[in-house]
Amino acid sequence: IYSARKGLKVTLIAERLGGQVKDTMGIENLISVSSTTGPELTGNLINHMNDYDITVKEHLRVSEVIDEEIKTVVLSSGERIDTKTLIVATGAKWRELNVPGEKENIGNGVAYCPHCDGPFFKGKDVAVVGGGNSGIEAALDLAGIVKSVTVLEFADTLRADQVLVDQAQARDNITIIKSAATQEVTAANGKVNGMKYLDRDTNEVKDVAVDGVFVQIGLVPNSAFIKDVIETSQYGEIVIDEKCHTSSKGIYAAGDVSTVPYKQIVIAMGEGSKASLSAFEYLLANSQRLEELYEAQK
Ligand SMILES: Cc1cc2nc3c(=O)[nH]c(=O)nc-3n(C[C@H](O)[C@H](O)[C@H](O)COP(=O)(O)OP(=O)(O)OC[C@H]3O[C@@H](n4cnc5c(N)ncnc54)[C@H](O)[C@@H]3O)c2cc1C
Repeated sequence: IYSARKGLKVTLIAERLGGQVKDTMGIENLISVSSTTGPELTGNLINHMNDYDITVKEHLRVSEVIDEEIKTVVLSSGERIDTKTLIVATGAKWRELNVPGEKENIGNGVAYCPHCDGPFFKGKDVAVVGGGNSGIEAALDLAGIVKSVTVLEFADTLRADQVLVDQAQARDNITIIKSAATQEVTAANGKVNGMKYLDRDTNEVKDVAVDGVFVQIGLVPNSAFIKDVIETSQYGEIVIDEKCHTSSKGIYAAGDVSTVPYKQIVIAMGEGSKASLSAFEYLLANSQRLEELYEAQK
């Protein structure tokens, strides 16, 4: 929207419009909006975007970026788009546990999205792995649907905000186990029936009987397609400065895929706006040379 309002010709390429926002039902911290849901916010974003002349390419992935002065973006369809500037806002995805029984049981008890899959576990016992904000939020959401929630946290303290921890501790059907290293998801007859974890205080392997396991151990930035052409951090986040510049001239990054601290909607929105203004500044400063190069490449 910021790019279009500057009169730039904008193409938006998104595998799934709305991104992670689509996976959340309760949003109460988007400044000026007391309460909304992911689908509602996504709809509002699309409506706002439709006020402008923006070319949208949905359900397509960017598989490669060729980083010369005029950049070429290669799509999963094989289409190639030449552009003078590129803003990468590809976000992040759920991190997996990588223990036996996890991959094999996705869809049969192992889940990553409480809002999508929580209702399937109505009246059942579930575990949430991870005691950060996502994990405790998931536990609180699930506690309203399922019979019981057991939260397993690897560290000896919870990393979630105290306000969330207080709410979780006040719920009768949430149990929090700390210093628990998840070792295996167990199943019988194609359905999850429990988890094994190492009690890091006693070194004992313990079992917890559950019908579902929600993995909430963080996000991995979606930067693989571009990591060979720009600098990324040890966590795979695209390194940016305060104006969203990356290590490559003309490429900007914004939101969860970048090193910006705090991964939140309002921050991602602000960063996206900032990246657009930086791209516009770059285009103004280099307009003649970029136009000649762009025309020559056509
Ligand atoms: C369950 C859950 C609840 C949350 N609750 C809140 C909350 O209440 N409040 C809050 O502020 N934040 C919340 N967050 C965090 C918030 O959703 C993120 O910080 C925010 O969505 C980041 O926006 P983004 O645009 O950087 O990335 P994303 O939302 O991840 O969007 C990335 C976009 O890029 C696309 N994409 C990825 N790779 C490619 C590719 N190679 N080619 C083309 N397109 C690609 C994706 O399809 C998607 O459209 C929550 C997150 C989750 C998962």
